[in-house]
Order: sequence, then structure tokens, then C-alpha cells
Amino acid sequence: AKKIENVGCPFCGVCCDDLVVTVSDDGKKILEVENACIIGSTVFHRAMEDRHTLPRLRQPDGTYKEISYDEAVDYTAKVLYNAKKPLIYGFGSTNCEGMAAAAKVAEKAGAVLDNCASICHGSSFLAIFDNGYPSCTLGETKNRADVIVYWGANPAHAHPRHMSRYSIFPRGFFTGKGHKGRKIIVIDPRHTDTAQVADIHLQVKQGHDYDLFNAFRTVVRGHDIPDEVAGIKKEQIIEAVEIMKKARFGTIFYGMGLCHSDGRNHNVDIAISLTRDLNDFTKWTIMAMRGHYNITGPGAVWSWQYGFPYCLDLTKRDIAHMNPGETSSVDLAMREEVDAFVNIGTDAAAHFPIEPVKNLRKHPWITIDPHPNMATEISDLHIPVGIVGVEVPGIVYRMDNVPIQYRKVIDAPDGVPSDEELFERIYQRLCELEAED
Ligand code: SF4
Repeated sequence: AKKIENVGCPFCGVCCDDLVVTVSDDGKKILEVENACIIGSTVFHRAMEDRHTLPRLRQPDGTYKEISYDEAVDYTAKVLYNAKKPLIYGFGSTNCEGMAAAAKVAEKAGAVLDNCASICHGSSFLAIFDNGYPSCTLGETKNRADVIVYWGANPAHAHPRHMSRYSIFPRGFFTGKGHKGRKIIVIDPRHTDTAQVADIHLQVKQGHDYDLFNAFRTVVRGHDIPDEVAGIKKEQIIEAVEIMKKARFGTIFYGMGLCHSDGRNHNVDIAISLTRDLNDFTKWTIMAMRGHYNITGPGAVWSWQYGFPYCLDLTKRDIAHMNPGETSSVDLAMREEVDAFVNIGTDAAAHFPIEPVKNLRKHPWITIDPHPNMATEISDLHIPVGIVGVEVPGIVYRMDNVPIQYRKVIDAPDGVPSDEELFERIYQRLCELEAED
């Protein structure tokens, strides 16, 4: 057996890159995974379960029949070529190389290109466009932060090693006392497991985060507030603000509880404004708790390529256009504007509301994913690919926009391509179809 060190975990946005994976001598089996949380470890140990090694095409009787990769590439290219407005969506769980290759295909096919941010932190993007992003790296938080705020986020469940690697517990350069030297404030309507380790838990009334931010900003600026705001007593708000103002360095980590409750992008907007206000007194930063391990990636890759992070309309081919609400996946599907769907590196059937799924289902639906999931089982075509971070190396962007080189630890099953290889082949076939026309 051999040990592979500094392995990245392909699950959540913490992107732990300190895993040690022991594999069998023939490089085909994963024997042990060290340092990962239970979710990360499961990703590796279950990598080989439920795998298909050939694409599966839906037959008229509803069953699936295995076809070759050449046939799958041809089918996908023809679907994209013949569609008026195809949608290529997903990308949270693939590498940046796959995203760039998919962008080539989208441009050639005149498609809409979108990623999971469209249904998660897209509202954060809107706020960041308006109000900036006074952020930092997770390393800075680890080494400098003495006050941490989790607002609408429950990393104890969703990002299990976030607290131990970067925020609450680690000892850093200026934070040698670790947990003992930090104050933790959790703001959440629920008494979560994260709230249990907090010094202060403010149980904000569901959907009233904006009011509470307003109260925080008012107190930061030295003005009076009502006796109670959003279910929180005035004294508790003043106490929390005093801790924040006295911090040497603070980070507000916010999650979907903020950007997907009432107020959405406005909640993030005012959170950024609070961060700015606090910078009149000391150093404060803010960071979105991004979900999938590389959902930050498409925002970085496509912003670099097209100037926009998501909801990219490339139907005019030579010009990119972004207008969430108009060019976002769920809205397009709700209005039945899409006549072909390629779902890659995420499960749209599980995550989209039912109406858009039904509308997308009326047209060809192709799912590209290593494992079967809800989307593969309602697709016309399922194309299995290698698992990034396990069988395929590549660049991923951590939630703080730091790119990390992931490595592979075992080989993909024989003949199974990476997302990048698959999109390159689809691109070549699209070029051939164009030349034949
Ligand atoms: Fe993987 Fe996230 Fe767990 Fe780290 S915290 S091991 S990235 S699932």
C-alpha cells in the first residue's frame, strides 16, 4: 500500500487539502482516509460504489441501454447543435479545467451557461456587485481573527472542519490561544450545533435578519435602538456590537440562512455595509460559506473569460449577457425557454423546484455525473465521468477564492473520461457538425 499526502477533499467549500489517503499497490482501491471529516471520508470510500462505466441512453420503453462514449458524444453534440436555446448548468463538483472546456462548448452551441450559484449564493453576487466584498482568506482568519460571527450558517453540519481548521479552534500566528482567545457569536433562528459552541447566540426572528443588521449598524454608529429588534433584546445587541468593535480582527461568515431568507441579496448587502462600518473602528472581513468544493470555481473562471460569474447567456455567441431573473436557469425553465438541458456536476432534479424540472424534462436532458442520482434517473442520457479529486486532478477554488491544485489518488474505471476530456470531444463533434452543414 502507498500513502498519498496533501490530498484535497472533493466535497464542501472548505476544500481541506491535508488529507492522507492510503491506496492499494495496484492504485485501484482506497484503503484508508486520514484527516477528513465523516462526509469527506465517505466520498473517498464510496467512490467505487454504484459506478457505471458506459453512457446510458433512454429507450422508447423507458429503460436505459448502454452505448459507447463516441455515441454519447455524438448524441450530445447533435442535441446542442439542433437546440435553439440549450442550457448547460451545474459545475459545483468539477474542476476549473472542465468548466473552461464546457464554456467552449456553450459558446459554440450558443447556450446559456449557468452554475449552482444561480440557486444558492447568486443573491450574494448581486450584493457584492452593488457593495463590494471586504473579504480575506481563511488563512488570515485563522492567523488573526479573535472574533468570529456565523450568521445564518451551521458549519457543524454543512462544513464540518471549517471551525477546527480556520475559525474557532485553530492556533494561528497571532491567535496562539486558539479557542480560548476567541469570541464566537452565532446568529441563527435555530439552536444549531454551531450555536452550542458560541459565546453569544442571538436567536433572530425568522426572516428578520435585515432588521437586526440595521440595529447593529445603528449601535455601531452610536445611536439608540428600540428595546427589542427582530426578537433580540437591546442589551444583547449592544453587548455583541461592543465585542465586535473591540476585536483586533473579525470575520463574518454567512450562509444560505441569510441569502435565502426574506431580504436575500439585501441581507448580504447590509451585512457588507456593517462590515464596512466596523472597519471605522478595527479590521473586519466578510465571507460567504460556499457549498460545493468548487462552486467558487465557475465564478472565477467565467468572470475571467466573460466578465460575469453566472447566468451567462451566450446565445449570441460573440457577446456574453448576464441578467439573473432573465438568464438564470430556474427562470428560463419556468418560462419554458430552454429546449435542451445538459446537467453537469450537480443534481438539478433534486435541487430545482418541480415545475422547472417538469418543463426541462419535455426536451432532451443529458446528465454528466460519476454516480447515478435523481437527475441521471430522469435523463435521456447519462454520461459517467471520473471523480475530480479522487480519479481526476485539477484546480478548484476554495470558498475564499484561493485556487488549490487537487490530485488524483486512484485511476478512473477503464475508458471513463474526465469532464474536461468529454467536453473537448463534444466541442470537436460540434465543429464537425458545423463544417458538414
Ligand atoms: Fe471535506 Fe468539507 Fe469535511 Fe473538509 S470539511 S473533509 S472539505 S467535507
